[in-house]
Amino acid sequence: MPLLVTGTIGIDSLHAPTGQAERVLGGSCAYFAVAASFLAPVRLVGAVGGDWPPEHRAQLERFRNISLEGLETRPSSRTFAWGGRYLDDMNRRETLFTDLGVLEEAPPSVPPSFRDSRFVFLGNTHPAVQLDLLRQFPNRAIAVCDTMDLWINISRPELIRLFEEVDGVVLNDQEASQLTEQRNAVSAGRAMLDLGPSFVVVKKGEHGAVLVHRDGIATIPAFPSASHQVVDPTGAGDTFAGGLMGHIASTGRHDFESLHAGLAWGTVMASFTIEAFGLERLLRLDRGQIDDRLRAFQSAARVG
Ligand code: AMP
Repeated sequence: MPLLVTGTIGIDSLHAPTGQAERVLGGSCAYFAVAASFLAPVRLVGAVGGDWPPEHRAQLERFRNISLEGLETRPSSRTFAWGGRYLDDMNRRETLFTDLGVLEEAPPSVPPSFRDSRFVFLGNTHPAVQLDLLRQFPNRAIAVCDTMDLWINISRPELIRLFEEVDGVVLNDQEASQLTEQRNAVSAGRAMLDLGPSFVVVKKGEHGAVLVHRDGIATIPAFPSASHQVVDPTGAGDTFAGGLMGHIASTGRHDFESLHAGLAWGTVMASFTIEAFGLERLLRLDRGQIDDRLRAFQSAARVG
């Protein structure tokens, strides 16, 4: 079943001890869409400015499973742009700049043919935009959102309103503790359930992820990558969500067991993303490689 995603399409500048990449295709929506498209057809809703490089469009167009009907170009606006730098400990990142561009304008419009979407993912962008878009999908079976430190800092009231209306939230451990003042992922997840969602996935980088659901708790380790395989962690969170939601849309089920299984797909997709700068690795990935890695992960992560 089709999976709708909204969020940012960005022009990213990435710096890491392993090298750098200037003005490459990025943004929450781009990473999510590409990852999810290996598992389900994706409907993308987003906006870019007149400065969006044609080669970035060409990269997305290669993915036949992504419909770009909802990608709006605003010729006199600027595309969202972001710069990030990883420290020697690649789990730590600092933002060099955030140029909001089109994000400061009206939300992108949803094409009428997308309005019947049942599976909806609200990737990282302004929470007021996420809420506005969410309300345009009256037939949704499940809506999940992501967020990050910037929005927790500058738009907490809008975020809290968003949490009242979504089914699930995916975020990392630092963001979860920033929101709830709980350091432990399970305690933070439980505190977030009190705000409205039925489940929360707290990602813990190289330590895996925890699903805190009204029906139970599940944990999953990270894929055991060696340090030399981690080239650029950018987009790991968005591709994790893409794998998780892609699995949900492909099965049409969103109960606790399906979400638990989806964590493995998310983990595997993220493990590819970090192997090269930006979207480079995902752009040369095929379904066979994903299936092989999922089997290897299932065997490595077996409990008991
Ligand atoms: P991740 O590494 O999963 O946190 O995602 C990184 C991507 O998020 C980059 O491609 C950025 O363009 C995008 N990004 C960075 N800051 C924001 C923000 N405040 N809102 C939405 N997207 C962002």
